Formats: sequence, structure tokens, C-alpha cells
Amino acid sequence: MMVIMKPGHSPQEFDAVMARIREVGLDGHPIVGVERTVIGVVGLDREHPELADDLEVMDGVESTVPISSPFKLCSREFRKHDTIVDVRGVKVGEGTVTVIAGPCAVESPEQVMLAAHAVKARGASMLRGGAFKPRTSPYSFRGMEVEGLKILAAARDETGLPVVTEVMSERSVDAVAQYADVLQVGTRNAQNFFLLEEVARTNKPILLKRGMSSSMQEWLLAAEYILAQGNPNVIMCERGIRTFETAARNTMDINAVPLIKELSHLPIVADPSHGTGKRRLVEPVALGMVAAGADGLILEVHPSPDHALSDGAQSLDFDMFESVMGNVAKVAAAVGKRIESSVPA
Ligand code: PEP
Ligand code: MN
Repeated sequence: MMVIMKPGHSPQEFDAVMARIREVGLDGHPIVGVERTVIGVVGLDREHPELADDLEVMDGVESTVPISSPFKLCSREFRKHDTIVDVRGVKVGEGTVTVIAGPCAVESPEQVMLAAHAVKARGASMLRGGAFKPRTSPYSFRGMEVEGLKILAAARDETGLPVVTEVMSERSVDAVAQYADVLQVGTRNAQNFFLLEEVARTNKPILLKRGMSSSMQEWLLAAEYILAQGNPNVIMCERGIRTFETAARNTMDINAVPLIKELSHLPIVADPSHGTGKRRLVEPVALGMVAAGADGLILEVHPSPDHALSDGAQSLDFDMFESVMGNVAKVAAAVGKRIESSVPA
């Protein structure tokens, strides 16, 4: 449920409401707006049928409203305005198209530095790169781990591009949080609920990939695990789902963009690299996702895709990335947006 406070309520009245919520073992999540303060009450509130009545008669409370969707804090019902995630000054969800680009995996300092400068020069505003790689086979290249994180941080220091990188397990959350600006939870961990809670506690923005067979509801409930820990900075990422189709690596679900926007206030970016698995499909699918309203793109770009240690087939070279950026700018303009500009070094 949501508790709507009266305009001009006192801090003491607010504290008393929060205390009453906690007294029954539930959590209160305040949103302080310009005109109104709203408190989201989460936990098993149906086990406290009397709570809504009790809160409604407290001083400073205007009303209580039930939230009908199973996800609460990430629902549009809870928050009407779009959430804007701010990553060191780079905004996601502010009516711009934020481009995150870089290699699938960190392979060497030279590879990352080359890619970081190249994507920045072509208009990306964040750098991606995996240091911990979830690989289907244990014999594939699994990433440079902490050494890779240090390389990413050095590239950030040199270019000013904030770094997005995956955290695969609770055991590496602290290390990843020490170096990264955005923690990515991958498709294979999208419903690893303990990991979601652990990444949330770092208070860093989280890029939450859609599980490869997650419904909208399952995906939003995964986001809810993060918001319920008090971390509102979640970026949803559509990266394609498993279907009967084998012609592409995954099936990119364009519906996800307008659906997430309807159901939730969270920003959503699209990953046409993993969504298609084929570099020639990346540009057209990227343009479609931007046209549908995506708040950004995450794209795999490698100095020499044919020599990449992972996901070379879907990685763009610098010229292809330049072409994508040029056409993304045109589609963005057609839907009343611009590309989010990168921060100066
Ligand atoms: C990645 O971004 O490199 C990655 C492994 O993504 P996903 O979890 O979507 O497969
Ligand atoms: Mn990849």
C-alpha cells in the first residue's frame, strides 16, 4: 500500500507513521516529492489488515491506497514520474538515449583503452566490459576478474566514462563495487534473489538484464528485490529471450520497451548485441528499440571483433559503431530525443 502524507505535514508526524509501519515488521519507503510525500509500505501487509485504518487516522496522513500489482516499489502506481538514474552525471531515463559501449570481455589494458577512446569519440557516454564472464562452457575464457576490474577503472580515469560491469556472484560484489560505477546482473542471474539483494546493498546503480525466459512480471519482481533494499537506481535491460527461433541468438522483444514503461517508472535500455548475436543485425534492431522508446543501448564494440575472446560474432568494429551512432541520433531526433552526451575527461 501507499501512504499519502498531507501537504505540510511535520517531520514528527512523518516519523510517527514510519515508526508505526516498522512496529508491525514492515518497511516504509518514502518518496519526497515537491508537493507530496508518499510512503510505500512493503512486506506482507495483507497480514496486517488493520494497518491501513490505523495509519489513515494518524496526524499528517491524508489517505492510504492499495497497490494492486504484485511488484510495488517499481510500479507506475507507486511512482508516476519516470526514474532517472544518475551515473556520475550521465543520466539514464531523462528523455535521452544513453549509449553504453565496449567489449564483451576485458582482454588486456590496450584493448580496453583503445575501445574506450573509440566509443567515447563516437558518442558513447559509458563504458562496458566484463571482468567476470558467465560462460556456458567452463573451458571458455571466463574473464580477467579483479585484474580486469582494475583495467576498467583505469579506462574510466583516463576517459571519464563511467564503467558498467557484471557481477556474477555474491562473493565478488565487494570487489566489483569497489571499481565499477554500475553493477550489471546478467540474464543467468536475473532471478538469483540473494545476489539481487547483495548488489542492492552497495547502493550503486544496477543494470538488470532480463532473464532469458523471464516474463515482464518476473523481471519486475526481480527489480523489486533491489528496490525493496532501499536502492531505487535500477536500469532494466532487454537482451532478448529464448524462443523456438534459432536463426538469431535470441529473440529481441520490442514489446518489452513500451510494456516496462507502462508498468514501471524504471528506465529501460536495449542490448541488441546479445539480442541478435549477429553484428549485421545489431544496427537495425538498435534503431527499432530506440524508436520504440528505449532510454539507451548497450552495445558490444571491439577493436578487432574477429579476434575477440568472447562474443566476437555480435561485436561491432569502430566503423560499424560509428554508423550505428549516426543513425541512432537520427531516430532519436525523430522521437524527440537526443543522445546523452559524454562527460568530459
Ligand atoms: C554480457 O553483457 O556480456 C552478457 C553476458 O550478457 P547477458 O547476461 O545478457 O547474456
Ligand atoms: Mn557478451
